[in-house]
Amino acid sequence: MQELFLYNTLTRKKEIFVPLEDKRVKMYCCGPTVYNYAHIGNLRTYFFEDILKRILIYNGYEVFHVVNITDVGHLVSDADEGEDKMEKGAKREGKSVWEIAEFYTEAFKKDISELNILFPDIWCKATDNIKEQIELIKCLERKGYTYITSDGVYYDTSKFKDYGKLALLDIEGLEEGKRIAFSEEKRNKTDFALWKFSPKNVIRQMEWDSPWGKGFPGWHIECSAMSMKYLGETFDIHCGGVDHIPIHHTNEIAQSEGCTGKQFVRYWLHGEFLIEEKGKMAKSAGEFLRLPVLIEKGYSGLDYRYFMLMTHYRKKLKFSYKALDSAKRGFNNLKTEILEIKDYLSSKDKISVSETNNPQITTWQKKFIENINDDLNTAGALGVLWDMLKDSILKPEEKLFLTYDFDKIFGLKLKELKRESIPEEILNLVEQRRVAKLNKQWQEADKIRQEILKKGYELLDHKDGKTEIRKKI
Ligand SMILES: [Zn+2]
Repeated sequence: MQELFLYNTLTRKKEIFVPLEDKRVKMYCCGPTVYNYAHIGNLRTYFFEDILKRILIYNGYEVFHVVNITDVGHLVSDADEGEDKMEKGAKREGKSVWEIAEFYTEAFKKDISELNILFPDIWCKATDNIKEQIELIKCLERKGYTYITSDGVYYDTSKFKDYGKLALLDIEGLEEGKRIAFSEEKRNKTDFALWKFSPKNVIRQMEWDSPWGKGFPGWHIECSAMSMKYLGETFDIHCGGVDHIPIHHTNEIAQSEGCTGKQFVRYWLHGEFLIEEKGKMAKSAGEFLRLPVLIEKGYSGLDYRYFMLMTHYRKKLKFSYKALDSAKRGFNNLKTEILEIKDYLSSKDKISVSETNNPQITTWQKKFIENINDDLNTAGALGVLWDMLKDSILKPEEKLFLTYDFDKIFGLKLKELKRESIPEEILNLVEQRRVAKLNKQWQEADKIRQEILKKGYELLDHKDGKTEIRKKI
């Protein structure tokens, strides 16, 4: 197996991936804040993480994958100000925060299922792990990283030696008020809340007792506490969107390393944004595109997946219906190609492909791995798939074998692809057409053929007099 190269945000370099344990990879990905639907831009991040996970598995690793569900503490502004997104969502819909969390967690899982994203081994909810978060804050307090203000317990970022190393932050140069609102009581611009006190005049639906007073955890502490709970103090891979680099992940490092004194994460990977013509797609701005909206318009989750495969995860991806249509056409062509091979092979006796000692197979696999192991080059890997299908030396059964092998990464469900059974209505029309042709009623026969076409099926008249019916895809 060729070496696997991953771009590590921490070093700003592509590095050879070597896990801590020989064949086992521990990976944590920041999950959704379940106060609203995910937009298709959020989903791109989970898609990139899915590709990464599939590539690790393809390379022979066993992956232990944890994703959190943020159901408390994520405030509207990243500056520890404003309303809790969950409480705001509950107010908007006249439901309890718990109901909101449950509802949008399910909606999120449905979305990622549509995209054929593999589920993690562990989903962990912030509200199920309050004790662990309090323990971590107590550890930071013992080590002198915290101070208390009128509204919560804060992290003094000036005490942490390498604060900002992930984002290469220029702490001195940060303009006051630009990156974060600067409250009077904060000692440094980059300080952040570990625990927030419940406001005196507002009744919160979610609050807990703590050594510092009744309240709720800050957003960043949950990821440090839960990732270390499930994966240990140092683990292999941590992922998220690029927007997490300067604040959320920077603060996670400060929290975890501040407490343990050990390196928190060895490889940090970040996915770029999906953008519309207007700019970044964000739901806080109000309008946003959800996957069910695309599905209503006639695109499948896998059409969107194919669209995302065509661009490297570290590049911005511009969304437009025109671009999505073109991806859908490409994906349809691919499906047609594969169905034709399947049709051809099903008319033959069972043919098996020997994987071992087949230089054809290994040559194409090598080309494929060169791409996927080069920091997840999915676009290049798709190119290899197309070149392979067009190759004139490979036998159909070898093409199918390689297609299924490559699809372990693409996740386009090509193995399950099959022609659907033809509905009764169409079969009746085909029979009527046969009779018309028999009676030499050519115009009538052609009319019926057009009708069949309109209903989404096409007819192929073979030389032997048989007619083949195919669903158009
Ligand atoms: Zn996180």
